[in-house]
Amino acid sequence: MPELPEVEVTRRGVAPHLTGQRVSAVIMRRAGLRWPFPADLPALLQDHTIVATGRRGKYLLLHFQHGTLLIHLGMSGHLSILPATTPAGKHDHIDIIVGENALRMTDPRRFGAVLWHAVTDGDLDHHVLLKNLGVEPLEDQFDAELLFRQTRQRSAAVKQVLLAGDIVVGVGNIYASESLFKAKINPKTPAKRISLARYRLLVEAIRETLAAAIQQGGSTLKDFVGVDGQSGYFQQHYFVYDRAGEDCRLCGHTVRKIVQGQRSSFYCPHCQK
Ligand SMILES: [Zn+2]
Repeated sequence: MPELPEVEVTRRGVAPHLTGQRVSAVIMRRAGLRWPFPADLPALLQDHTIVATGRRGKYLLLHFQHGTLLIHLGMSGHLSILPATTPAGKHDHIDIIVGENALRMTDPRRFGAVLWHAVTDGDLDHHVLLKNLGVEPLEDQFDAELLFRQTRQRSAAVKQVLLAGDIVVGVGNIYASESLFKAKINPKTPAKRISLARYRLLVEAIRETLAAAIQQGGSTLKDFVGVDGQSGYFQQHYFVYDRAGEDCRLCGHTVRKIVQGQRSSFYCPHCQK
């Protein structure tokens, strides 16, 4: 599943091809994915200019003067920039034509989404899908004080609090496991028991882990394809993720796997207390 780093890598990849470009046409090859596409999308976007790109959590945003297009890649979606004449495959569901190129959305499992938020609908931050999202992990509002303050009443395990997304958004399963390892925090620790000092380490670890993944162009997700159309299989050197039964890279003890909230967690019981 594309996580925050993949969405950010995608945004950075497509932005130079889209920013300042006028949409000449929108081709929809089906009525929708997870939800219906806006039926009037071609008329909404045609002859309008993409003024900027953005991202909120895992939503990629294309900003126009009169509104914002929200794109979610779902479980298996990806975007590519191609010559507009490139024949569409079975899973290519929507093309936004800008100049000679198309921004093409491909999504075999069809859990993705394309939604429109008009300026007249109000503040984008109040959109039903965005309003409950926590702060962005790579922005300044995300700090140890925030994490500490907002977890004083949270008995849930710290790993699950990170994944919940209501305090900080976009720290998915891989990145939560890796960050907790770097901060030497056991994923089962109740969030409210963790000190401010340890949250400082965790915030640093989360920022480093996400930044490294973005730098490398995403994580090891076989469905992600980069904007150049090449297979985006970015192998990362994980400390604990998906390494159950193997030796901890720091201490040599065996990495353990547990299930928390139906998600696998990987950790070293020796390094993480
Ligand atoms: Zn260890």
